[in-house]
Amino acid sequence: MPIYEYQCRSCDLQFQWLVMKREEEKQVACPECGSKRVKRLISRVVYHVSEQDRLDSFDPTAPKTDSFYKDSRNIGLAAKKRAKQLGVDLGKGFEEKLEKLRTDPGGVIRDSE
Ligand SMILES: [Zn+2]
Repeated sequence: MPIYEYQCRSCDLQFQWLVMKREEEKQVACPECGSKRVKRLISRVVYHVSEQDRLDSFDPTAPKTDSFYKDSRNIGLAAKKRAKQLGVDLGKGFEEKLEKLRTDPGGVIRDSE
């Protein structure tokens, strides 16, 4: 399943979008500002990688770019990597919290208030 990389023409954010069907490309919108004026970065087609692959290739000491932090799938990656190295089981609660953080960051803040 191809994930294409796009760049927003309004705010220059680069982001990835999973395109299942050709028509869905019309719905691609910038996650930052909502603009639909995006261009596809054709040279940088990437394919879906499992979280395991992301964990394996994740280097906690490497400098992070803005796009790293804007990619919600990277939330919690550092904590998971560290826990794995230490042999710590973060438990199911952590996974749930992480999933929530990734899908609804505002909700987590609301819950903790
Ligand atoms: Zn934008």
